Amino acid sequence: MKPENLLRHLNDTHPRHPDTPRWRDQLKSEPGRVAPTRTSSPIRVRPWQVAIVAAIVLGGVGLYYLTQINLFPSQPFPCVSGTLVYHWHTQLYVYSGGALVTIPGGIGLFAGCAEPLHTHDTTGTIHVETDVSRFYAIGDFYRVWNKPFGSPTQMIVNGTALPSPTASQILYDQETISIYYTTFA
Ligand SMILES: [Zn+2]
Ligand SMILES: [Zn+2]
Repeated sequence: MKPENLLRHLNDTHPRHPDTPRWRDQLKSEPGRVAPTRTSSPIRVRPWQVAIVAAIVLGGVGLYYLTQINLFPSQPFPCVSGTLVYHWHTQLYVYSGGALVTIPGGIGLFAGCAEPLHTHDTTGTIHVETDVSRFYAIGDFYRVWNKPFGSPTQMIVNGTALPSPTASQILYDQETISIYYTTFA
């Protein structure tokens, strides 16, 4: 290494080395060692700095997508992980041959995972707690429940019978959906 380049090397390669200022002073005191003043911009972006910023950005993006991956692939929706967009309650009654079916509690709730549609008890209240800005339909709840929607004979929403039963009925807050089957298994 040329002697006049040693100071530049120290500045560039070991700017944080505790001894660097001392070496710098020593070198400056020796004639011929002081490197000519650089005319380029004082802020130099080095490749490793670009690499670190890229790694941070890519890591963040990767982490975001990791949280969006459904770690419970048997479930139809990704686990709720972010801030809730809304938290609604829809009342569901299912009848089999005229008898009220008990809807189990804990549907859609797993260790470390809550589906956006779930039940906390056996009252038939569907909790719609979602971190996604979208609606859910009664058929979506059946998917979480892992029951076929099948062919109901009648469907009543807030006291009004639908022209024909449909799994596409949206789960709105404070609404009551009653679904009647000849037999529901
Ligand atoms: Zn809940
Ligand atoms: Zn709730």
